[in-house]
Amino acid sequence: MRVNSDSENGQERTVLQILLVEDDRPLATGLIQALKKQAYAVNHVETGNSCIHTIEIEAPDIVILDLGLPDQDGLHVLKQLRNIAPTLPILVLTARNSADEKVLGLDSGADDYLAKPFEMTELLARLRVFERRLSTTSLSTITIDTVTLDINNHHVMINDIEIELSRKEYMLLKLLMENVGKILTRSKLESGLYGWNEEVASNAVEVHIHHLRKKLGMSFIKTVRGVGYKIDAQAEKTNAQ
Ligand code: CA
Repeated sequence: MRVNSDSENGQERTVLQILLVEDDRPLATGLIQALKKQAYAVNHVETGNSCIHTIEIEAPDIVILDLGLPDQDGLHVLKQLRNIAPTLPILVLTARNSADEKVLGLDSGADDYLAKPFEMTELLARLRVFERRLSTTSLSTITIDTVTLDINNHHVMINDIEIELSRKEYMLLKLLMENVGKILTRSKLESGLYGWNEEVASNAVEVHIHHLRKKLGMSFIKTVRGVGYKIDAQAEKTNAQ
């Protein structure tokens, strides 16, 4: 990862590596130009196979994935990407604009979703959201009560036994554990889990909380009636590395 000077505010800015997976060449060319202009480093591939191959060799910071690919269904590529890199930010581009397709894309592990045709300024704004999220992860593990979140490896353990969480469940638990003792409102949690501008089912957070409670026990995440959720700071241990 290279470091560049940011011309806008004079601060050092890490150059993010973006993997663009898009088989439409004129669109890809336009995207590459726009992204490079914003000082992103771009690697471009045109097929699902080459996308998976590239990720297996070296994960980028962000993936922009077109769902209409020549060799594989983009949703299938998305699921494979998620298995390889559970927290890699993925922005899906697609001509499929129905609500069902959108939900399917998000359920398959996309972090955000942009329907073609889109404005380049909107795409860049979505990338900045990803960038902000990337810059907020600095702790290595957080332990509260019997639950340990291993941020580097994306594992969650109860009494040192690893438990399986979905990606959104992990993200939700991470938000709550990073903000231990604080009440997080449903809208705050939604904005942490989903991109802005992204439609979210009205009970999405409740559903994830319900699943988390089944796995972590009913009392770990508290409901603050009418406001949101929190985890109490009981026997908290935080290890920065
Ligand atoms: Ca395409």
